[in-house]
Amino acid sequence: MSDIEIARAANKKPIQEIGAKLDIPNEHLLPFGHDKAKVSEEFIRSLSGKKNGHLVLVTAINPTPAGEGKTTTTVGLGDGLNAIGKKAAICIREASLGPCFGMKGGAAGGGYAQVVPMEEMNLHFTGDFHAITSAHNLLAAMLDNHIYWGNELDIDIRRVVYRRVLDMNDRALRQVVCSLGGVANGFPREAGFDITVASEVMAILCLATDLADLEKRLGDIIVAYRRDRTPVYARDIKADGAMTVLLQQAMQPNLVQTLENNPAFVHGGPFANIAHGCNSVVATTTALKLADYVVTEAGFGADLGAEKFMNIKCRKAGLKPEAVVIVATVRAMKMNGGVDKKDLGEENVSAVEKGCPNLGRHIENLRKFGVPSVVAINHFVTDTDAEVQAVKDFVASMGSEAILCKHWADGSKGSAELAKKVVQIVEGGTADYKPLYPDDMPLFEKMETIAKEIYRADEVLADAKIRNQLKEWENQGYGHLPVCMAKTQYSFTTDPTRRGAPTGHSLPIREVRLSAGAGFVVAVCGEIMTMPGLPRVPSAESICINEDGLIDGLF
Ligand code: ADP
Ligand code: MG
Repeated sequence: MSDIEIARAANKKPIQEIGAKLDIPNEHLLPFGHDKAKVSEEFIRSLSGKKNGHLVLVTAINPTPAGEGKTTTTVGLGDGLNAIGKKAAICIREASLGPCFGMKGGAAGGGYAQVVPMEEMNLHFTGDFHAITSAHNLLAAMLDNHIYWGNELDIDIRRVVYRRVLDMNDRALRQVVCSLGGVANGFPREAGFDITVASEVMAILCLATDLADLEKRLGDIIVAYRRDRTPVYARDIKADGAMTVLLQQAMQPNLVQTLENNPAFVHGGPFANIAHGCNSVVATTTALKLADYVVTEAGFGADLGAEKFMNIKCRKAGLKPEAVVIVATVRAMKMNGGVDKKDLGEENVSAVEKGCPNLGRHIENLRKFGVPSVVAINHFVTDTDAEVQAVKDFVASMGSEAILCKHWADGSKGSAELAKKVVQIVEGGTADYKPLYPDDMPLFEKMETIAKEIYRADEVLADAKIRNQLKEWENQGYGHLPVCMAKTQYSFTTDPTRRGAPTGHSLPIREVRLSAGAGFVVAVCGEIMTMPGLPRVPSAESICINEDGLIDGLF
């Protein structure tokens, strides 16, 4: 059965029953239909004195076209923990609507480890991304309006850095000229659109701790520079208050359920390259107050996703993860070992062994954050016993443990062993989370630390212009910020074709960007696309409503 067929056959419970599992009173569930609800801000505030549950991160090896299954494993582990009697919730990201009409698969997990309603999760859901789009574009409109009515702030219109956003893959809008059409339409200038998930407003919503913090961060967005190069903030445009109003509902986390009727928070979804790629802080902190175990996912492989989760999200939100699950697959090990995607169906133990060093490096890297880890082998039906054993042996040789998981095929029965292991790790109490670098380290050194410790690069290359820019930001008071690396997810290096565990490379930084509202400095290492396009044959061509009134072609 396909993911969508399994999801359609789900035996969903009313969302109030799911809320009850976390002791959320009905009046604090704001329902969207029967199977989705927001959790009220008032209720969230009332939880502040409560003790936190245990936080578990699911991350993975470097992604390959074979697919790894982080979300699937996050859902499977959440169900597995519930099945062994723990009060567990999961926290994952919302999906971007645009890419669903291109070629991307769903974002709700897979097989018998899914979150439902999956069609809605991948479409409009509870409207959060539409709210973010509106809030973002309100600021853009107010900025051009300010310039139109006399430009009192003396904005240099050649240095407007704030673009517009849309939740659609539309390459035609990457670079545009706006304000054409004569005097009444303002001053023509070059502009452009990004996809909504790349908006700084998205990153802000996901890092803000409450509405007051949200408003402050929105005010801190740099929208343009003056002729003397001093920054102009959203606060100067007086947009922060109205933007917060547009985001008030969207700040409340969404509650849905897994196929096994366990609670799942699905909230926020920032890019994992120019932003940090994790669900909202509000969802995670709320879940921690309500559940004994919270399983969450970070985007991309552990070199990017887990690094940012630890160095940006946990540091800033004061979270202390107690266990990490590293998802690996036999197929991806084979691809790392040089096997072509079309040959993945054949047993090849030596290729598995050859690919394992990629996994090994992630195991080593995660130890640097002081959080114990376990490897989850996400089982595919084509995996042979000998191949699985090869991964287990390798992981054992690293002083760690790999557990075979079959949640995709069997739901919580297939992840019970992983769940028990996670509980054992957490109860062992050995976790001692620490970020990789201190706040007061200079920005360039922070980038070097990540490049050397995580990517195992020998050096970071950046010309004087970039280094001077970083110094200037330090002088302006931004030196304490963490850095957000924007690099290919497919390799430890900046070359997406270099699989395995390469050494002896250098990390060239092309550009640096300041996300002053989100609170990080982005290091762009390679081509980063903030407005994707559609493929030659977009999946939109085959998406339709069938004779039974159901959506076809989404997955
Ligand atoms: P990630 O979160 O790492 O991007 P997902 O969990 O979303 O990955 O899974 C990607 C795709 O792979 C989904 O369509 C899912 O159904 C599929 N998938 C995941 N695990 C398995 C498995 N064990 N067997 C077959 N397909 C799987
Ligand atoms: Mg995922």
